[in-house]
Amino acid sequence: MTEARDSATEAEGTTERHGHCLCGGVRVTLKPGRNEVSACHCRMCRRWGGGPLIAIDGGADVVVHGTEIVTVYDSSPWAERAFCSVCGSNLFYRIKESGQHYVLAGLFDDEGGAEFDLQVFIDEKPDYYSFANKTKTLTGAEVFAMYAPKV
Ligand SMILES: [Zn+2]
Ligand SMILES: [Zn+2]
Repeated sequence: MTEARDSATEAEGTTERHGHCLCGGVRVTLKPGRNEVSACHCRMCRRWGGGPLIAIDGGADVVVHGTEIVTVYDSSPWAERAFCSVCGSNLFYRIKESGQHYVLAGLFDDEGGAEFDLQVFIDEKPDYYSFANKTKTLTGAEVFAMYAPKV
């Protein structure tokens, strides 16, 4: 495939992904190629959003407009969670050290190219639901083992 250019070429997979909260006060833009969707079944995510967190890995270069109405909650020593203080929409989970954002998939109008490929904290998933999608799965212990050395 061709590299991204300065011109207004808008082929599939080379465009930015745009999302916004319920009231529209917060707008989020992901760089082209951010297509990886993952779900987290941990108790904190389920308490935060009422169900599993389904988010797109936006990397560290997510652009957020409307930050004056974004509230950031310091949810653990290594991560924080942001929501719109006007409409209450959850926005993203951010790793403090790397600045990596997991932006809630539901914020985006265009799901083109998005691929659900990973479920984490599968051991904390309650029995009353499960996704039929065939994805990789990691337990909480496996997640910490993968990321702990970097933190
Ligand atoms: Zn809002
Ligand atoms: Zn979680």
